Amino acid sequence: MAEQTLVLIKPDGLSKSLTGNVLARLSETKLEIAAARIVQVSKELAEQHYALLKDKPFFTDLIKYIMGDYHKKKVMALVYWGDDALAKVRKICGATNPEEADPVSIRGAYGRITTKGVYENVIHASTNIEEAEREIKLWFSPDEIIMELYPSKKVMVSVEKRVWV
Ligand code: UDP
Ligand code: MG
Repeated sequence: MAEQTLVLIKPDGLSKSLTGNVLARLSETKLEIAAARIVQVSKELAEQHYALLKDKPFFTDLIKYIMGDYHKKKVMALVYWGDDALAKVRKICGATNPEEADPVSIRGAYGRITTKGVYENVIHASTNIEEAEREIKLWFSPDEIIMELYPSKKVMVSVEKRVWV
């Protein structure tokens, strides 16, 4: 079944110049990229993204990590689409703990555990269809995705917007 998943190349991945390596590994899945953007992650977005983990002891450090407090302040967010996208991407990512991850997976090859105990594991991938929908809608607006992945509607809004001079 065709499905979509959110991928984040986390700040450690961008700081270590691993963007190309990670994208090359993901291209092995033959999935399609439906959206991509570079994001400076706000505290609000970080906390919403990891809302399910807010009671974990590592939550505060995790929020700092994804905001880029320990690296460059940027994340690359992508939507991958295609058959079995969730499982295919999770498999190439490897286990959450980089020391337990398959050494040829992205996390196994490039991740590390900091002395504070944060798993700097280079990449995020959604775990299930419901989470993927919640996460994709958090990181992208409908116009930023080249496919109609979820129902959307047009509304008239008046917002202040930066334009080229
Ligand atoms: N994490 C951590 N310590 C842990 C578990 C998770 O630092 O004991 C971090 C790690 O960066 C992980 C993220 O929190 O990717 C989200 O955790 P989750 O359990 O959702 O793992 P994932 O879905 O990313 O494999
Ligand atoms: Mg998760």
